[in-house]
Amino acid sequence: MISVVIPIYNEEENLPALRTRMTSALDSTNEPWELVLVNDGSRDRSLEMLRQMHAEDPRIKVISLSRNFGHQPAVTAGIHFARGDCVVLIDGDLQDPPEVIPELVAKWKEGNQVVLAERRSRADGGARGIGFKLFYPILRRVTDLPSAPDAGIFGLMDRRVVQEFNKLPERNRFIPGLRSWLGFRTTSVLYDRQDRAAGKPKQTLPKLLKYAMDGMISFSYKPLRWVTMLGFFVAGVTFLTALVYVILFFALHRQAGSGFFTLLVSILFLGGVQLISIGILGEYIGRIYEEIKQRPLYVVQDKLGFE
Ligand code: UDP
Ligand code: MG
Repeated sequence: MISVVIPIYNEEENLPALRTRMTSALDSTNEPWELVLVNDGSRDRSLEMLRQMHAEDPRIKVISLSRNFGHQPAVTAGIHFARGDCVVLIDGDLQDPPEVIPELVAKWKEGNQVVLAERRSRADGGARGIGFKLFYPILRRVTDLPSAPDAGIFGLMDRRVVQEFNKLPERNRFIPGLRSWLGFRTTSVLYDRQDRAAGKPKQTLPKLLKYAMDGMISFSYKPLRWVTMLGFFVAGVTFLTALVYVILFFALHRQAGSGFFTLLVSILFLGGVQLISIGILGEYIGRIYEEIKQRPLYVVQDKLGFE
């Protein structure tokens, strides 16, 4: 059986098209399937429509979270409840075309355990588009991950991989990174990422920034190392400057000049360096705090279609 996990947050305009396109794409694989739709605390008519869809087709199952927990927790909830031999993750706004799923399934049947859907092109324009384009190359640079292809959550995981995925307890989740960290036999399929079918992006800029930070910080200590290096650099420059002043004083009997601006600039510079360093440390400490609280990642209010 194929499971498809879709996070849904205020997607009432997209649900009807999502359902028809999903159903025909999945039927074309000739395998039994289930749709696991995770309602992430929608405030529009999404939940009502999901209930209706479940009533009409029991293969459509619904998990409703008690509030908006965010994209990654919602997807994680769906993965926990999915029962298929493989699990496909896909966004609910039709940016990832459901018609690619049969290709993913075909690659899976060839014996691949992870099939990523990589973006050949994307339709996101403006600042968002530039941000997305920059993010993956930066991520590849910063992280110690074996690979960080230009892929979001869209892709397929075999049951074996899902089993291991479900053992990962962390709260600050960056699913593409976790999937790549897990390894297994991986291949990818190329597709053209579309524009959102309807509605506004539900991942607001702050949410996306947090997501990007999660990606870098949960997979790398490099920012901490950079802070150390910055410290050595500043210390080195300070030492050299001091040396120059000592030489000037003793060899050439020259006193240091008035130096008001030098003083001002160096104090401000050091202040800046320290604040940046504390900020980077804080990003790590905040995440340690989140992990240590051991709160669950999401709270389920309602389930439809699960025994
Ligand atoms: N989503 C969610 N919870 C959120 C934000 C988004 O479940 O807090 C869902 C949303 O309904 C959509 C998917 O996650 O199905 C991707 O969201 P969006 O298209 O806004 O993100 P982007 O394409 O900008 O990454
Ligand atoms: Mg989207």
